[in-house]
Amino acid sequence: MSCRNIVLLGATGSIGRSACRVARDLPGRVRITGMSGFRNIDRLAAEANALRPEALAVPDGAAEAVLRAKLEYAPARIFHGEEGLATLAGWEGADTVLVAIVGTGGLQPTLAAIKAGKDIALASKEVLVVAGEIVMAQAAKHGCRILPVDSEHNAIFQCLEGRDPGQVKKLILTASGGPFRTWPADKLRMVTRDEALRHPTWRMGEKITIDSATLFNKGLEMIEARWLFGVGINRIDVVIHPQSIIHSMVEFIDGSVLAQMSHSDMRFPIQYALTWPDRIAGSLPPLEFAKLGRLDFEEPRCDDFPALDLARQAAERGGVVPAVLNAANEVAVAEFLAGRIAFPRIWEVVAAVMERTPDAGADSLEALLAADREARREAARLAA
Ligand code: NAD
Ligand code: MG
Repeated sequence: MSCRNIVLLGATGSIGRSACRVARDLPGRVRITGMSGFRNIDRLAAEANALRPEALAVPDGAAEAVLRAKLEYAPARIFHGEEGLATLAGWEGADTVLVAIVGTGGLQPTLAAIKAGKDIALASKEVLVVAGEIVMAQAAKHGCRILPVDSEHNAIFQCLEGRDPGQVKKLILTASGGPFRTWPADKLRMVTRDEALRHPTWRMGEKITIDSATLFNKGLEMIEARWLFGVGINRIDVVIHPQSIIHSMVEFIDGSVLAQMSHSDMRFPIQYALTWPDRIAGSLPPLEFAKLGRLDFEEPRCDDFPALDLARQAAERGGVVPAVLNAANEVAVAEFLAGRIAFPRIWEVVAAVMERTPDAGADSLEALLAADREARREAARLAA
């Protein structure tokens, strides 16, 4: 069994820190040879001092000076800026790049890693929502694997292993339903930032936590699944499962359904993506079914939480529209977190920006990035 050498992009975030724990738990199997941070340089220094990656990347020279002052060892390289991040993504000392940068910031480094022939362990779902067709085509061209880290997709990846795609009937994504699953629709206008950040089952970064409350997270995940598994959006269902124990399921043509289960801790999917195809004994706790007692399932409230319908529409329209949905959502979430718009405005802004977007093909990265920029401008104008 060989050791995987990993570049970890977004080491200071929620996924990044869980990945560092996995690496500490599995020395000899998972080695972090590169790491990037963005704002929290203290945290980057702490993780780097523990795991001693050879290469690091930070936004600029000022961040490098702060980092150097806190490092207890001398890394081989410290890279700067967007170009530096792309260079780190192609770092020769790594075979796999774990992309855990929130939002669209993960796209260019992912493409750089693919061009350098690295396998990708992908947490950043936005990368596939914006440019799924291009990313999957580039990965095929360069012979790179895309190993899903998002828990739902990692679950489906596990359920599909060794199966003939022709025998799959549908993919069933589970969703916790977020903190407002049982709230009456007329109360959603009153939701506060703190309430929206209090996720019932997962501890995550702020952006994805808000996405889980609106259900845009699940909408983005439907589009992510469409690219990862090459399944039409009409064969991707969502079911609410408040306990977050079943991470997703695959229904086969004979009516059998396979599910993957574990505690809701991202170290499970991160570890599997980084040790695949092996399963390694680590320190993660097994499920005790009698203690769980029950697992519940419900229909999503699509009328009160329009994110799923918007994502389905975006996938059906295709071209630049998923990138537009994603960009408008990023802006609206930031506006909500800044206290400038009410919670339901997130859906309204995304819907309005999508409506104003003419259908257009996404034949180049430039076309997608232009649509992304335009959608951000429009969303910011609508949210003002
Ligand atoms: P987070 O906010 O906790 O961390 C984000 C990381 O990205 C940080 O390390 C930050 O330094 C870095 N970053 C932010 N903007 C950047 C930029 N412009 N350039 C370079 N680096 C930048 O986010 P998170 O919760 O860890 O989520 C990361 C990604 O993983 C998201 O795409 C999210 O949807 C996905 N994901 C997260 C979870 C989870 O449990 N947190 C689960 C599934 C998928
Ligand atoms: Mg998920």
